[in-house]
Amino acid sequence: MSETFSENRRAGIPLVICAPSGTGKTTLVQRLRSEFPHFGFSVSCTTRSPRTGEVDGRDYHFISEEEFLKRREQGYFAEWAQVHSNYYGTPLAPVREMLDSGRDMLFDIDVQGAAQLSLTLPRGRYVFLLPPSMSELERRLRSRGTDDETSIARRLANAKQEIQQAHWFDVWIVNDDLERAYDRLRAVYLTATLAPTLRPGLATSILEG
Ligand code: ADP
Ligand code: 5GP
Repeated sequence: MSETFSENRRAGIPLVICAPSGTGKTTLVQRLRSEFPHFGFSVSCTTRSPRTGEVDGRDYHFISEEEFLKRREQGYFAEWAQVHSNYYGTPLAPVREMLDSGRDMLFDIDVQGAAQLSLTLPRGRYVFLLPPSMSELERRLRSRGTDDETSIARRLANAKQEIQQAHWFDVWIVNDDLERAYDRLRAVYLTATLAPTLRPGLATSILEG
C-alpha cells in the first residue's frame, strides 16, 4: 500500500503560525506554500478597508462592522479578535469542510485568535516564531521599509506583549538563520502529518489488509 493511500485517508492539519510583526512570518510562510502548494488557506473576514492590490474574497472578505458583529453573534467565526482597532475573524464552516476533506490548512492570525482557535481545533499545530533579539526585530522592521517611526514603535511594543503571551504554543522557532528556521518549520509540519490521531482508520486497515 502506498504512502499516498494513507495520506489521503487522514484528516487535514491546521497549521497555525504566529509571530510578532517583522519576525519573518511572511517570508517563511511563502516558502512553505511554494514547497507544499496543496495547503488550503483560510480567508478571514475583516472590517478594515482593502489596501491597494487586495482582492475581496481572496485576501480577505471585507465586511462592515455591523455585519461582523451580527455574524459573531450567530457563531459564524471559529475565532475572532480586534487588532489595531479593526475586527478580524476566521469563518468556521469552510475551515471544517477543508479539514474534513483531508486538506491541510495554514492560518495567519494573531496570538489572541490562535489561543481561541486552539480550543476549537485542538489537533492543530500552534507555532510561534521568535526574532533572535528585540534589536534584530527593530532592524528587520526598518530594513523592510514599509513602516513609519510610529508604526515601528507600536509594532515593537506589541511584539513584547505577544512574546510574553507565547508560552502555551506547541512549538517555538527562533528565526535567526532563515535556512535553519525554515528547516525546523518544515519538520514541524511533516511530523504533524504523522500523528496517529489524524488517521483513525490506519491501524485497522493494516491489521485487516
Ligand atoms: P513578518 O511577516 O513577520 O512581518 P517579513 O517576512 O516581512 O516579516 O520579514 C521582515 C523583514 O525581515 C524582511 O525584510 C525579510 O526579508 C527579513 N527577514 C526575514 N527572515 C530573516 C532572517 N532569518 N534573517 C534576516 N532577515 C530576515
Ligand atoms: P493585516 O491587517 O496587516 O492584514 O493583519 C493584521 C493582523 O491581523 C495580523 O497579525 C494578522 O495575522 C491578523 N489577522 C488576520 N486575519 C485574522 C483572523 O481571522 N483572526 C485573527 N485573530 N487575526 C487575524
